[in-house]
Amino acid sequence: MSNSNHIKALVNPLFKTVLKASSLLKVDSYVIGGYVRDYMMERGDAKDIDIVAIGSGIDLAQKVSSLLATKPTISVFKNYGTAMLKVDQIELEFVGARKESYKEDSRNPAVEEGTLEDDQNRRDFTINAMAISLNKGSYGELLDPFNGIEDLKNKIIRTPLDPDITFSDDPLRMLRAIRFATQLQFKIEEKSFESIVRNAERIKIISTERIVDELHKIVASPKPSIGFAILNKVDLLHHIVPELSNLKGVDTIEGQRHKDNFWHTLEVLDNIAKNTDNLWLRWAALLHDIGKAPTKKFDKKVGWTFHAHEFVGSKMVYKLFKRLKMPLNEKMKFVQKMVFMSSRPIVIASGVTDSAVRRLVFDAGDYIEDLMTLCEADITTKNSVKFKKYHQNFKKVRDKIIEVEERDHIRNFQPPISGEEIIKTFNLKPSREIGIIKDAIKEAILEGKILNEYEAAKVFMLQKGKELGLKTN
Ligand code: ATP
Repeated sequence: MSNSNHIKALVNPLFKTVLKASSLLKVDSYVIGGYVRDYMMERGDAKDIDIVAIGSGIDLAQKVSSLLATKPTISVFKNYGTAMLKVDQIELEFVGARKESYKEDSRNPAVEEGTLEDDQNRRDFTINAMAISLNKGSYGELLDPFNGIEDLKNKIIRTPLDPDITFSDDPLRMLRAIRFATQLQFKIEEKSFESIVRNAERIKIISTERIVDELHKIVASPKPSIGFAILNKVDLLHHIVPELSNLKGVDTIEGQRHKDNFWHTLEVLDNIAKNTDNLWLRWAALLHDIGKAPTKKFDKKVGWTFHAHEFVGSKMVYKLFKRLKMPLNEKMKFVQKMVFMSSRPIVIASGVTDSAVRRLVFDAGDYIEDLMTLCEADITTKNSVKFKKYHQNFKKVRDKIIEVEERDHIRNFQPPISGEEIIKTFNLKPSREIGIIKDAIKEAILEGKILNEYEAAKVFMLQKGKELGLKTN
């Protein structure tokens, strides 16, 4: 990483087009922000390229588009003075260099035109403020006024200006700092860190959508616990996800303790992050124990209990999704189901029977794999003998699932006898008996009394009808 020429960052022919457009308009331009950071970190080519123009970003975008053979359409965001165009998979975002001043109660600043330096001053972190020139004479030159290169080397997140100004102006930056610290596994520099603690309350002026965007990025990181541990330490967690901060702490009564469910949860989340990139399964891991805070009780005979915490937790998932404006669709239902079923495989793991596994597969349906992944991540014991034993037990459950699946086809169970056939067989009008017989067939299959096939189910139906005093046609 040298501070001299970085023409290698500009191999994409789009940059030459921007150079040409800039000289035609006589406006200087620079690539800035995440693209430069990721290039310096050798993180591979970023999909988003941010260009800052010392003048109108919208005019520059228009000129660039006119010079491209495909003449891509431009999305203009007049209010923000930005314009975006998409070329193949790459989003090119143009903005005019600006100077910002903020008021106490809003993160929407008063904006005026500025120099490159003004624009770099308003950036969030030193590593995001580096720019590379796209201008004749200095093409490829790095402009790094806050020594972002050094911070990259030392893996440090630091604000370019006094952190109290940077964070108080736009408190979203506090979450961005934590998100970058998590994604890149960097440390937040001490003064910036202390300033987040001082400004934590100001998170209130940030919209829920933006907060959740950052949360998703933390959850999707290789080691998400880093972010949640910082959120906890700077006292932001209880503003955003109180369900998690409520899990903190260990109580002792009559010498009996329970584990700290907050730190346990973070371990589960890190474990699952090694095995899945499914964002919602990671959310399920994060939320799988939230029902433990409201259900915690001490019982003199059995010690600490969290009775029905899975059920209570799944209800809390709905409220949490609603409050955070996350989708209330099948994604939420998936998380609810995972939380609700999170103890099921554990309960059956010590003595795996066919019928218990059939019921598990029946209830989990297509989510059985995800549920097993969650339960395996939930093993956080530090006792290596137990660790091995629990994993072996789940392996037995997994083997049994395959065996039962091959034989009984319980996943997405369709009863082998339809309600219509029951009606015809016994010459019934719509009545309770139809449901009773249907349920009895399902139960007999899940219990393994009969095979999941037509002939066996028919014999069973006739016998059940007889017991109910029904006559066949
Ligand atoms: P990634 O795309 O990996 O999330 P990025 O740095 O490109 O990272 P963007 O949100 O696309 O993130 O922002 C682009 C650039 O704009 C940043 O690098 C930073 O310079 C600046 N920026 C974004 N949001 C803010 C903010 N809230 N305050 C100050 N500068 C910001």
